[in-house]
Amino acid sequence: MRKLDTKTIVVASHNAGKIREIQDLIGPFGFTAKSAAELNFIEPDETGTTFEENAAIKALASAKASGLPALSDDSGLVVDALGGDPGVYTANWAETADGTRDFAMAMQKVETALEKAGATSAESRTARFVSVLCLAWPDGHTELFRGEVEGTVVWPPRGTQGFGYDPVFKPEGYDTTFGEMSADQKHGWKHGDSHALSHRARAFKTFVETCLEA
Ligand code: IMP
Repeated sequence: MRKLDTKTIVVASHNAGKIREIQDLIGPFGFTAKSAAELNFIEPDETGTTFEENAAIKALASAKASGLPALSDDSGLVVDALGGDPGVYTANWAETADGTRDFAMAMQKVETALEKAGATSAESRTARFVSVLCLAWPDGHTELFRGEVEGTVVWPPRGTQGFGYDPVFKPEGYDTTFGEMSADQKHGWKHGDSHALSHRARAFKTFVETCLEA
């Protein structure tokens, strides 16, 4: 495992919600981090078929363009009754004809597919959010960290916090959706805690333990 020995990195993302959460998580560690969006880097095509492949594509593109280590996130919602969809295609389900993203429409697509599959009871609507973080160096070295959180898909959407599919995801053991949680509640983790809640915070905790701490 390679340790991170600089405090200047790039957040390899163009997704405002993810950038905010990653900045939030790395902030307390004293990093200076610009995002790929701020640096006007081209968004690479996500041609992989796994979260790991796509996370590596994004992190390597930013590391090579900047000459700095870069941290990416590839994530998605995996719904059991839909055979794992939308999975690695979670962002694609939100794409509109004019190239923008509409998450109200995307959440409705998931709901329509669940109804079609006859998945109306809570037990039949199990899902998990997956996040794979990739730290890549300009020389091509990569380290990958996966985090997952189990839950159920609820309908109608609840809450206006967070981003993406947060309003329809209720993590196991909670009565509120991610959309009804503050950022701190959704992360459910700060440095030193033994447990994190969100998929991204869980992956980040492993990143900290592996690449930052001795
Ligand atoms: P990608 O990683 O860029 O392929 O996009 C992943 C998509 O999954 C995002 O556009 C979000 O819609 C969704 N997603 C990932 N993480 C979260 C989350 O924490 N909350 C809500 N939606 C998420």
